[in-house]
Amino acid sequence: MVQKIDWRAPRGTHDILPADEAVWRFVMGIIERRARGFGMGRIETPIFERAELFQRSLGETTDVVTKELFEVNHYVTEVGEEGTHYALRPEGTASILRAYLEHGMHVWPQPIKLWHMGPMFRAERPQKGRYRQFWSAGFEVIGDADPTVDALLIHLAWQIMGDLALRDQIVVDINSIGDNLCRPKYRKALVAYYQDVREQLCPTCQERLLKNPLRLLDCKEASCTELKADAPQMFDHLCTNCREHFRVVLESLDELGVVYDLNPNLVRGLDYYTRTAFEIRAKDDDGRQAALTGGGRYDNLLGELSTKSTAGVGFAIGIERLIEKVIATGLEIPNLQTADVFLIQLGERAKKASFNVLAKLTDSGLTVICQAGQEGLKDQLGLADKARVRFALIIGQREALDETVIVRDMFEATQETILQKDILKVLTDRISSSQNPQ
Ligand code: AMP
Repeated sequence: MVQKIDWRAPRGTHDILPADEAVWRFVMGIIERRARGFGMGRIETPIFERAELFQRSLGETTDVVTKELFEVNHYVTEVGEEGTHYALRPEGTASILRAYLEHGMHVWPQPIKLWHMGPMFRAERPQKGRYRQFWSAGFEVIGDADPTVDALLIHLAWQIMGDLALRDQIVVDINSIGDNLCRPKYRKALVAYYQDVREQLCPTCQERLLKNPLRLLDCKEASCTELKADAPQMFDHLCTNCREHFRVVLESLDELGVVYDLNPNLVRGLDYYTRTAFEIRAKDDDGRQAALTGGGRYDNLLGELSTKSTAGVGFAIGIERLIEKVIATGLEIPNLQTADVFLIQLGERAKKASFNVLAKLTDSGLTVICQAGQEGLKDQLGLADKARVRFALIIGQREALDETVIVRDMFEATQETILQKDILKVLTDRISSSQNPQ
């Protein structure tokens, strides 16, 4: 007996089907337009990299590296590559900085502004809004330490939310987590505070206290949340430069009209951030899946990967979570027009004539759907309607004999009969006038 295979997508992954295409294209189109409007060029990096890149950049003690890295179960054994250990990318910034170094972008006109969009992989425990493969769009500005860049990037995210009519539904949380000068002192103060109440912390936070005490601030457990209220705050420990940086970021956001909340508990899950950290989360959701966007400044990251230290700031948007929100708000998504023309043929002779028309139209660059296997007029008109194609061409036995074709405007429900030899001109005129109405 043939052993059946499990046909479901792996847990935490999902298919994107034709029915999802309109909303995906709509959201991706907005993101692309905004990124280009910011003067960003698109970069796409490989889906897997040497695991070491993520371990070094995201931090050896972060959840993403210790628990969620999808390691590729294959050590390359080719000469010169023995023992190379790969992992699927869990986020985009590390790979982009790797590409920055590889392509010597430090000699390109500065700053470097890049965006990208594609799937990321994290071996998480899947649940709604938390996937093992999810799409993200990332935006990075490398080589500019000015605090106004942080504000302009947050404004970019704010604009994307506005384009998607989500502003009423979101909160922009912002914090400064200091730099190498002031953060160690803050960390010390934090550890001192929590040492005394250690027994009251959840087991995960007891562990975090030793390895990554800042993460105690974003624990959602009730006991830890209570303790947070009296914990020392980073803001009171910022050094003069970090304080000044934060002041300019906030003032610029005010000028740009971005509405934000100061959130002293926002620390972000990755180690590489310095100074500005921000998140955009859904207002009606306080769970871990609420974050739609996250980012911040990472001025030390490049220096940790190489000798070429330079400032950087960026953020990433989770596309599935964004799309779920867009759908929930009922925003009207423009329909996709799948093709210029739907070609309908009725009968054997008509089929042949229709192929001649099909070749002529497609050779000229038009897109034509032709369901050669379907017979009835009603069925084929139904398909044309479903495909949201404006012009249906109908060739029956009679049209085949007369060398004519019926051109039906599906949107206006009008039709006329023309000679087959005139079809290209008639259609191109009709298409251009429907795209540029007087
Ligand atoms: P992060 O790099 O963790 O800040 O992630 C950037 C954005 O990607 C988040 O704000 C989320 O919207 C999204 N995201 C992160 N992890 C997941 C996941 N496991 N499933 C779906 N979306 C995610």
